[in-house]
Amino acid sequence: MNIFEVVRGEWGLTREAEFRADPWYIISGKQVIDSGFGKPPKEFFHKVLPPGVIVPGFVNAHSHIELSCMKDKIPYGSHLTEMGSIIQAHRGQMTSQSIRQAAVDAIHAAEAQGTFFFCDICNSTEFIRFLRDLPAFNGNRYLELLGFSSPSDQQRIVAAKQLLDIDATFYPTVHSIYGSSPLQMMFVREKARHTSVSIHLLESPDEIDFQQDRGRITEFLKKIGQHVRHTEMQGRSAVEYLHSVGMLSFKKLLLVHLSAARVEDIDRLSEYVPHSAWVICHRSNKYLGIERTNWETLKHSPLKMLIGTDSLATNSDLSVLNEMKAIFQEGKVSEHDLLRAATWDAYEYLEIRDNRIPHFLFPGAKPNIVSMSEAPAALVLGAA
Ligand SMILES: [Zn+2]
Repeated sequence: MNIFEVVRGEWGLTREAEFRADPWYIISGKQVIDSGFGKPPKEFFHKVLPPGVIVPGFVNAHSHIELSCMKDKIPYGSHLTEMGSIIQAHRGQMTSQSIRQAAVDAIHAAEAQGTFFFCDICNSTEFIRFLRDLPAFNGNRYLELLGFSSPSDQQRIVAAKQLLDIDATFYPTVHSIYGSSPLQMMFVREKARHTSVSIHLLESPDEIDFQQDRGRITEFLKKIGQHVRHTEMQGRSAVEYLHSVGMLSFKKLLLVHLSAARVEDIDRLSEYVPHSAWVICHRSNKYLGIERTNWETLKHSPLKMLIGTDSLATNSDLSVLNEMKAIFQEGKVSEHDLLRAATWDAYEYLEIRDNRIPHFLFPGAKPNIVSMSEAPAALVLGAA
């Protein structure tokens, strides 16, 4: 049996996220030990792969795999709060088996397009343990504490505490400024601030209204019996509020969406947490009728862009390649910047070691995002 195998391909991706011809890879199992372009080291016998594009795997920086069972349940163009109501209504009706099967199918479909790592948000303590033991899943798991008023917020804290006592492999996190109470913010800060947090922030302009205790989010909270006016939030913008409760004092912050972030919000974030990442979930925003107008402001901020899909409730798949294609077609972000965000920027930000990154061959594809997205299922180097 060969311990090492050397393969050559037609097109590869450089560390600068540029396509270049004639890549070679030294692989052991599914690990790429070394790679380069041009002639491979001549002491090795090498194998030539079929034509196509070879890239290191893509990182999905925001998903809710648990909600894969919600595919096609929410009409296109629904409002954020309508989505919330529909998810709430369906939750109790699904069997654990159907939730798990939909999750596994979604992970496999994304992997067939080169996505290998997820920053995934779970809502239930049962599902987060299921993911931990699922061989198909690779990534960071966040347990989201939902609950805006007492006592439901405290109940979730107790459940999270109990699980943390026996399993320290996940991160507790909050949903958003309107989905998690100040008490939950404080709990997460104490438990996880030396690690990482993922929070939905300024997804829709309704969050700006919410600060004034009006608009659709406030109405929604009233409807589900969770409305309360927390003094910690009074008179503060979302960013100021998070700062005041210590929710910005994390080593790694994934600020999800920022679709409705104003210049002043982005300026504040750039000042308080220039080391944070923001995660774009473009297709999900479109699905919920949310239009982004801050492309340029974010591009010129120090915040690092990463790419997510959100869940199948508001997206057709969890494939970062399809997400890149949709963003690229918007004409606001270059192919190069998208590829960086899906690969090297994400590995660096999330501290994913080189030896954990599988490489994928997109058979017959040309070196561009659209052609890759149209290729048949991608193959993992070394898996055959
Ligand atoms: Zn989300």
